Amino acid sequence: MANTENVEIGVIGGSGFYSFLDDVTEIQVDTPYGPPSDSLFLGEVAGRRVAFLPRHGRGHHLPPHRINYRANLWALRSVGARQVLGPCAVGGLRPEYGPGTLLVPDQFVDRTQTRAQTFFDGVPLAGGGTPNVVHVSLADPYCPAGREVALAAARGRDWEAVDGGTLVVIEGPRFSTRAESLWYRAQGWSVVGMTGHPEAALARELELCYTSLTLVTDLDAGAAAGEGVSHDEVLRVFAANVDRLRGVLFDAVAGLPDSSSSRDCLCASALGGMDTGIALP
Ligand SMILES: [Zn+2]
Repeated sequence: MANTENVEIGVIGGSGFYSFLDDVTEIQVDTPYGPPSDSLFLGEVAGRRVAFLPRHGRGHHLPPHRINYRANLWALRSVGARQVLGPCAVGGLRPEYGPGTLLVPDQFVDRTQTRAQTFFDGVPLAGGGTPNVVHVSLADPYCPAGREVALAAARGRDWEAVDGGTLVVIEGPRFSTRAESLWYRAQGWSVVGMTGHPEAALARELELCYTSLTLVTDLDAGAAAGEGVSHDEVLRVFAANVDRLRGVLFDAVAGLPDSSSSRDCLCASALGGMDTGIALP
């Protein structure tokens, strides 16, 4: 399905981001890595074609460690997306990053344990072809252009986002212990989530621009006084902020550079012409 949908941009997030759009088309995409989390929902925002993908599936049935991240990124690229926005809920590791804080990280730390995190593992694909072993640079894991656009979009809606910080990605689905949380905080890390990795790394392997927007829904155990994080509290704060986060995302979609002509960031040439052994979709 090479680019037949003319999609430019992918958004990996819940149904709250697309369910009210007119003319949303649902399509199913299969990949050499199996099916993505759900159908892709194609719509138009500010004249740009966007593919929305519910990260956890409709009804939120996939925990973070069982999401097929490789299929998700592959599917988005296969319909034409070259830039991806990845909003997610996180816990704040500092008291000043309370619920409702929007932080656009510039680094992440991987504390996950069980996730397939590369396309280039030398394992033959079910549909034919064997990827070579390839190492991409991830020193700066997020698209610099996308980050600037996201920060400007937030500012335009009177939401002063935190510019930069480190997202530590844990395996989940449980929340951190107090000791873990205090340790993350002592390292100087900013927020903690469960889905940021391997999303950004896989995007880079496919030469996709990837921008993370993290919404703080709670103070993590090491930064909070009380009992620690509860699932209900996370859902409540996310729901209270989903409208304005959607506004920021849509303004960011409008502001992203034209994928076909002007992606001059490092992401677009991450493979540097290396022979991956397989054709990217
Ligand atoms: Zn980029």
